[in-house]
Amino acid sequence: MKKLLIVGGGSAGWMAAIYLNKLFNHDKPTFDITVIESPDIGIIGVGEATVHSVRFFFAALGINEQELLRETNATLKTGILFRNWRKPVSGATHEYFHPFEHQVSGETLDISSAWMLSKRFEQERFDEGVCLSAEMIRNGKGPKTATSKQYQGIVPYGYHIDATLMARFLRRKAVEAGVTHIEATISDVTVEDGNIESVQAGERVYEADFFIDCTGFRGMLIEKLKADNWESFERALPCNRAVALQRDLPHGHTPNPYTVSTAMKHGWAWQIDLVNRQGSGYVYDGRRIGKDAAEAELREYLGPESNVLKCVHLDMKIGCRKEFWVGNCIAIGLSGGFIEPLESTGLHLINLGAGLLATHLSAGNPDQPVRDSYNRLMRGFFQDLKQFIVLHYCLTDRDDTDFWRQAPATVKECPWLENQLSVWERKVCEFHDLAGSFSTIFSDDNYRYILYGMQHFPNLQANISDEMSEKIFSRLRRSATGAANAALPHAQYLRQLNQ
Ligand SMILES: Cc1cc2nc3c(=O)[nH]c(=O)nc-3n(C[C@H](O)[C@H](O)[C@H](O)COP(=O)(O)OP(=O)(O)OC[C@H]3O[C@@H](n4cnc5c(N)ncnc54)[C@H](O)[C@@H]3O)c2cc1C
Repeated sequence: MKKLLIVGGGSAGWMAAIYLNKLFNHDKPTFDITVIESPDIGIIGVGEATVHSVRFFFAALGINEQELLRETNATLKTGILFRNWRKPVSGATHEYFHPFEHQVSGETLDISSAWMLSKRFEQERFDEGVCLSAEMIRNGKGPKTATSKQYQGIVPYGYHIDATLMARFLRRKAVEAGVTHIEATISDVTVEDGNIESVQAGERVYEADFFIDCTGFRGMLIEKLKADNWESFERALPCNRAVALQRDLPHGHTPNPYTVSTAMKHGWAWQIDLVNRQGSGYVYDGRRIGKDAAEAELREYLGPESNVLKCVHLDMKIGCRKEFWVGNCIAIGLSGGFIEPLESTGLHLINLGAGLLATHLSAGNPDQPVRDSYNRLMRGFFQDLKQFIVLHYCLTDRDDTDFWRQAPATVKECPWLENQLSVWERKVCEFHDLAGSFSTIFSDDNYRYILYGMQHFPNLQANISDEMSEKIFSRLRRSATGAANAALPHAQYLRQLNQ
């Protein structure tokens, strides 16, 4: 049996361990999998929102969804409400919703063309016109009905989850399934001929055939193997620090089935509701304001009751490895790369990394072409994601701080996106525009939610008859009302789950 040693016991370490163990050892053991976790170095622990595809990861592991939700104080998430990302219009705060849901078909005409041509932007938000989730959240509904099966809902959903409890939950499941867990702090890494031979903790030496570096931003193993192996994205995505705090849910507030992302002076703040508390944090450009000023701005945003709560300050390394897999070592999680958490993609990237590793490791003795393939795919995911996040910033018209005045220029770091934006001034964004994209979760639907949420409408000249428009949109309204009626109130679902 080959030995696979994972160093790091955060979300990345345990997600990789449990997934690879399930895949390679479910029938007869193929890999002897061990996780070494430092008892002294904590995990990041603030990654609390997921995208919808993460639920398929848990489903594939055979984990009971209700058990997972109960043990991690989780709530359901149907999307992100963006607030304040453009100037107010007629005194009203700018808002739009980015749901996980695909847009409903318009039959003869795609729904976004129909929406544009019937000039519905004059009376409603794009998301309100073309999806079911907006109506559901307006009515306090979650994605599930009383009869929804595990991991199923009327619309796609992800989770808000206590990251520390999730790592603990996965650790328990992984150990029960046969993964070895060692508590030790690795102090040294021995490299021989471009491969890691062993890692050491004091007198103890741990050897393996493959090493997975899940040591977080440190990248303790991968850094030893290759110099100049990091591509920074900070010119495109300048937010490189965060300050976070947790508080009880405000009195009378029931958990939102969506994340709130509010644009601040030099970045943005998240608000994530779990069943027992609310997590908030300010992701900001540390070259423009210091830690104290960022903390003060976050506290001012949250209100005076937040003044007594303890904050955590974090530095973020935004970018990714040029090579995620070097020799016999693969970096997964923050050691491999990180895109700021605006679209909650950290766990998704771990999921992708572990999934791809499984298919590539199936090669038995993976050689350079296998490593090249893994590296090309992972870099592609990161590059695609980088430009999708830039899209959120570059369409702003805010000019109240230098941060926002510079935001439109970040698109210069993404030539494909810059070109597409001028195309999308002339026609709708469609499936074929993203052909060849690496992204597995953000498609043309997602691009449209952001583009049109940020008012980047094409100037269309064609016509649509009132009759056709009415037919398409009245059908959609009926579907949205039906979905909202059928879905359980989010608060009721959570109460029943946790009683
Ligand atoms: C501000 C912020 C907000 C985020 N929000 C989200 C979000 O909403 N959604 C999302 O999906 N993701 C989010 N993320 C990302 C998410 O937190 C991470 O992707 C995820 O937690 C994985 O982290 P990790 O396991 O790679 O690293 P860590 O959590 O840092 O874990 C590192 C592990 O390595 C161990 N270790 C380190 N050095 C040694 C050593 N020498 N010896 C032994 N063990 C060692 C540590 O003990 C620890 O167990 C966010 C990240 C940040 C910074």
